[in-house]
Amino acid sequence: MKIIKSKPELQKAITLLREENKTIGFIPTMGALHQGHLSLIAFAQKNNQAVVCSIFVNPTQFNDKKDFEKYPVTLEEDIAKLTDAACDILFLPEVSEIYPDGTAQLEAYELGYVETVLDGASRPGHFQGVAQVVSRLLDAVQPDDVYMGQKDYQQCLVIKRLAELRKDTFSLHFVPTQREPDGLAMSSRNRRLSEGQRALASLLYQCLVSIEAQQGTKAFAVVQKECIDLLTHKGFKPDYVALADAETLEPLTDYDPSKNMIALIAAFIGEIRLIDNLPLNSIK
Ligand code: AMP
Repeated sequence: MKIIKSKPELQKAITLLREENKTIGFIPTMGALHQGHLSLIAFAQKNNQAVVCSIFVNPTQFNDKKDFEKYPVTLEEDIAKLTDAACDILFLPEVSEIYPDGTAQLEAYELGYVETVLDGASRPGHFQGVAQVVSRLLDAVQPDDVYMGQKDYQQCLVIKRLAELRKDTFSLHFVPTQREPDGLAMSSRNRRLSEGQRALASLLYQCLVSIEAQQGTKAFAVVQKECIDLLTHKGFKPDYVALADAETLEPLTDYDPSKNMIALIAAFIGEIRLIDNLPLNSIK
């Protein structure tokens, strides 16, 4: 695996791959890699002859400075995992490579409704930061295919919107969420959980499953309250327990089988914010 830190060097390597008629699959990450990230690589390897993964902890998408400072960094382990996975290129830029003019004045994207709800409402500026970094990474890599995890479902829709705004031609693939045996969605932030917190953390998934299972038997508002009460009782601070139209993320006040629906939860356990979601109906 080539480890490349600068954009010009990356462009040279990409040109070489293109000369060999290889298509390029791209997976942007913030590192602290786990099986979820590796599943994106495996997915890309089925479609593309070359895979580029980036590791860049993007300062502009953290609305909480402490969360940025505490974001896990495990670079040596990450390099070993990517090498084992036969990733072709790791793009590992410094902040100054991505933001040569600093981060004080950055472009704003018209991301529309998907930017404003759920995580967008709770984490002001977060999705603008995601769009800023992904746009720059796309310019650097110029991929044929981009792979993102459904674990960050709202982020998937934001990037879909970004690609429309940029008139990108790559194909965007959303890859199913990889889970621990107890159902907890794999996440770099799980490394920060204490043993006690880790034992409780799969409750988010259990709530999602109960939202799905009680479709047709109870009103969503009742199930939502049950979930909020249970999470609170177990020591979580729920941010949202929501049901939404999976295409638009417009909130649904009740189950609507005529729509593709998605259930989404965000909750703090201690100072760690966990998110998860479960698509219901036909898009599952
Ligand atoms: P991150 O490093 O958290 O920014 O994630 C990089 C990519 O991996 C994003 O597209 C995430 O949605 C995806 N990802 C993170 N966790 C998982 C998971 N448990 N299963 C599948 N994809 C994931």
